[in-house]
Amino acid sequence: MPVDSFPSCLVQNMKSEPLTQKEVKEIVAGLNKMARNLWWTWNNEAQEIFESLSPRTWQNQYHNAVAVLREVSEWNAYELRARLQNPHFAQKVKAVLKKFDNYMTRQDTWAAANAPQLQNNPVAYFSAEFGFHESLPIAAGGLGMLAGDHTKSASDLGLGFVGITLFYRDGYFQQTINNDNWQVEYYPQLNPRNLAMEPVLKSDGDPLLCEVDIMGQPVFFRAWKTMVGRSTLFLLDTNVDQNSGNLREITARVYGGDVTTRIMQEIVLGIGGVKLLRFLGINPSVFHMNEGHSAFLVLELIREQVMMGKTFEEGLKEAANHAVFTTHTPVPAGHDRFNEGLVRYALGSYATKLKVPFSKIMGLGRVDPEDNDELFCMTVLALKGSRCANGVSELHGQVSRKMWKDLYPGKKEEEVPIGHITNGVHLAGWMKGCVAKFYEDKLGAEWQELINDPEVWKNFLDEDFVTDEEIWALRYQLRRELIEFARRRLLAQGKNMARDSFVEFDRLLDPNALTIGFARRFATYKRAVLIFERFDEIVKLVKDPMRPVQFIFAGKAHPRDDEGKRYIQNIIHRSKYSELNGRLVFLENYDVHVARQMVSGCDVWLNNPRRPLEASGTSGQKTCTNGCLNLSILDGWWREGYDGTNGFAIGEDSNPDNVQEQDRIDSENLFRTLTEQVVPEFFDRSANGIPKLWIKRIRRSLATLPGQFNTSRMVKEYVQKYYLNGGK
Ligand SMILES: *Cc1c(COP(=O)(O)O)cnc(C)c1O
Repeated sequence: MPVDSFPSCLVQNMKSEPLTQKEVKEIVAGLNKMARNLWWTWNNEAQEIFESLSPRTWQNQYHNAVAVLREVSEWNAYELRARLQNPHFAQKVKAVLKKFDNYMTRQDTWAAANAPQLQNNPVAYFSAEFGFHESLPIAAGGLGMLAGDHTKSASDLGLGFVGITLFYRDGYFQQTINNDNWQVEYYPQLNPRNLAMEPVLKSDGDPLLCEVDIMGQPVFFRAWKTMVGRSTLFLLDTNVDQNSGNLREITARVYGGDVTTRIMQEIVLGIGGVKLLRFLGINPSVFHMNEGHSAFLVLELIREQVMMGKTFEEGLKEAANHAVFTTHTPVPAGHDRFNEGLVRYALGSYATKLKVPFSKIMGLGRVDPEDNDELFCMTVLALKGSRCANGVSELHGQVSRKMWKDLYPGKKEEEVPIGHITNGVHLAGWMKGCVAKFYEDKLGAEWQELINDPEVWKNFLDEDFVTDEEIWALRYQLRRELIEFARRRLLAQGKNMARDSFVEFDRLLDPNALTIGFARRFATYKRAVLIFERFDEIVKLVKDPMRPVQFIFAGKAHPRDDEGKRYIQNIIHRSKYSELNGRLVFLENYDVHVARQMVSGCDVWLNNPRRPLEASGTSGQKTCTNGCLNLSILDGWWREGYDGTNGFAIGEDSNPDNVQEQDRIDSENLFRTLTEQVVPEFFDRSANGIPKLWIKRIRRSLATLPGQFNTSRMVKEYVQKYYLNGGK
């Protein structure tokens, strides 16, 4: 074919001059900047660029852009420059860098119009965990994921926002399973040099060093900074030479160590976080405590006031004026409590600083300050030290008001000042590449913004906008990708099974089967094993040759939760030795990456917590944009999301008080919904194999859920109800 019959843009590319040295230098600098901003974790084109630079590093290093760039440019600075001489590649890189630049510099954001006063005095969002991406594993579960998604949406909206957390060098644990099917934890060390973070430096170029007072002695910490789009996250780290050995370990692990470590972590987070912000000259208008772990910040805010001559009471009032609090769980173990001896030991010196007897400080953590037997509760401190508070779904708001009503004597339960904002997810961040392309194709270049608009999603009811065939093709692709992912993982997991072959693993799971997923922390209230209470019937269901069903499980149990580990053991045992073999699998090491695969590829997302203990839940929200349907107890967000047409409910909008009775009824209802609705509808096919009713349900799910249960809506609600106002 003669060259002049190509489209002109290609001809230009083919003839294009090599990039100049200057251009190459600019692109390399741009790539380095982009890799160090977690923006790329929700931009698939950026990810494709890093992956293509070194597919193996990408795969082995938890899809880490910084590690890839080091691989292709640090050891041998020539490789990256040489690769950029491919004009197509250079073009693609330039286009993504342009997008990144546009994102970072955009002026007409939602917050510019709606919350300009938060630009110079930002929201300081404190959270013991943040979950952004598998390369930075410093979250234990949903609380951290929510914090991460909150931060991403704050960036999208252009909100003045800084996050504060700890830098856990050992991260949250990685999970393997031993020959007894028992969870084993290990802690690979994170290397900041290989991560999207940089040290916070003083003006003289040395690392910034701050200190907090614990047990009357100084504990030093430094800080790291991670950019999340336009949001900044600071990570506090006590691993510095100035500390003696055990103090260096304070921030080693997420919720690591004993109760003494825990209180020290919380002092560093809450008090240290405020000190760092002051040192950096950041003057937040609001301190948002995401869960009670950071509530000691209230003490520091009081101390600042007392230093300026105010009384303790005045200081508390002023502190509370600037703080808001989100509570995340009705589960008692989720509320940190410390005994008086420990609080006195760790924070005794604060009595002098606040110029009050120590009992005053203890009283801030007690529902009844006079009750010397009461433990010091971080949630109580957070409630007393904030101007408004909220739960994370409507039902959780109710439950929380009941739980804490004794704190507000004289108020009726419905008057307790705890409202609710229902959680959401950062939609784009949970999409695989092909899903992002699907929406870009349907909605155009501005799709990332449009997907936060509930009206836009109504288009998906329209068969002219998207056909049943397109939806079904996407579903098949995603299920196939998940199954192949699972086979690869299972092969790697099966390292101890000497005689297993690739071929056997390639027979695991059926790409045509109704695929039911369950993945979350193995906290016992989530009842991972509930479905197996009617084991024989589940076997019958799974083995139906005309209507095959299969299950994929994943999740970590807390290192000290043997009951949760027994659940894991139970499931893995069944997957290997029961009649479910090959149709039930457990994927090790649940993390953001595994979550993204599972919420995409499953047809049904199972959620059967003991109501009302699942305050919100977010994993089910991640599934919606992929056409996966929720099958869930009416707890948390699903109680608000479910409308009878957009997924499936297990049981009613109520629950028995008796736990045994609840388990029995829920397992009965779960089985009934599964056999009477879910399975028949999935396998009710038209002449060309399309499940019309099922796809109608997917359309309803798309039309009603992602537009509502996303963090863009959620962060806007926080801004309007809590950051700019006093709640309600
Ligand atoms: C979303 C997510 C969670 C939270 O899931 P829930 O259903 O709310 O418990 C926990 N861990 C990971 C890795 C997640 O992606």
